[in-house]
Amino acid sequence: PSSEEQDQANQQTNIVEADDENHENEGNERLKIGLSMDTLEEERWEKDRDMFVEAIEALGAKIEVKTANGNDALQISQAETLISQGIDLLVLVPHNAEAAATIVGKAQMAEIPVISYDRLVKNANIDLYISFDNEKIGILQAETMVELVPKGNYVYIGGPATDNNAHLMRNGVYSVLQPYIAQGDITVVYDQWTDGWLTVNAKNNMMAALEANHNQIDAVIAANDATAGAVHEALVEYGLSGQVPIVGQDAELLGLHRIISGDQAMTVYKSIKDLASQAADIAVRMAKGEEIETDRTINNGKKDVPTVLLTPIAVTKDNIEETVIADGFHRAEDIYQNN
Ligand code: BGC
Repeated sequence: PSSEEQDQANQQTNIVEADDENHENEGNERLKIGLSMDTLEEERWEKDRDMFVEAIEALGAKIEVKTANGNDALQISQAETLISQGIDLLVLVPHNAEAAATIVGKAQMAEIPVISYDRLVKNANIDLYISFDNEKIGILQAETMVELVPKGNYVYIGGPATDNNAHLMRNGVYSVLQPYIAQGDITVVYDQWTDGWLTVNAKNNMMAALEANHNQIDAVIAANDATAGAVHEALVEYGLSGQVPIVGQDAELLGLHRIISGDQAMTVYKSIKDLASQAADIAVRMAKGEEIETDRTINNGKKDVPTVLLTPIAVTKDNIEETVIADGFHRAEDIYQNN
């Protein structure tokens, strides 16, 4: 058998053994977990959904998923539906950090615990927050960039102000840039949020940055690979393709293609498998009424929220193999074969 088949076979035996050995899943079949997602737009979110569903089902519990297509009102009504369907716990990826507090309030009235997944819900009584260290993501991006471009005009294409992650990433970026800015080596000539994480907005922002600075831009830090792709498109249109280093996040396939072709300097890999499986494990234990211990808390404006933060990893063309490929996040043939 190929090594991939062998791996699959091993995984299958592991699952069977696990089921034989322990009876921890007993009673889980009565539990129903709800997952309320903002969007499936970026590549990662389908992985989040599929891996979370798989992990919940492997634990023997039931799962119901709804996706709001970036619409706050829809996310609220979908969550209400989940609550009225009698879920035991809600896992929530908020579109809007503040607006989603309404959902948490409704869940709380129905005595349903809420886990904030990947993005923090602000000013709400959530029970747990699980994500990556988002400030670290900005730090990794800026560290890569200052090494490539220690002096010059920088552009920051951020996420939307409505996503708490966008604030954390931005803080991370500036924590690294600050001394360079203070010395006068780096000037941030343009810094803008990207409303709704929409690529059309990111591209317009990048074009505005180029216009305002007569194309004198030396480096672009983009909050994720989708916005990095939009930045790249703008650079192509302005005849600057390949001349201005860009960094992004998510280790999307298109981002990795740009890294290989030299159009993007780095991305940040986050193991969605780890996030989804840890969230599923916590969700089922919490739904059963278990106390969940975490080693830190984060204040969301309302309370100190028990928090689990996973570690993001910087990926350049030099470590694609040992990161995203070794982890099975993408297949080598998909990465190294452009379309
Ligand atoms: C996530 C990113 C994602 C972005 C757009 C952020 O909150 O952390 O991984 O690219 O949202 O969906």
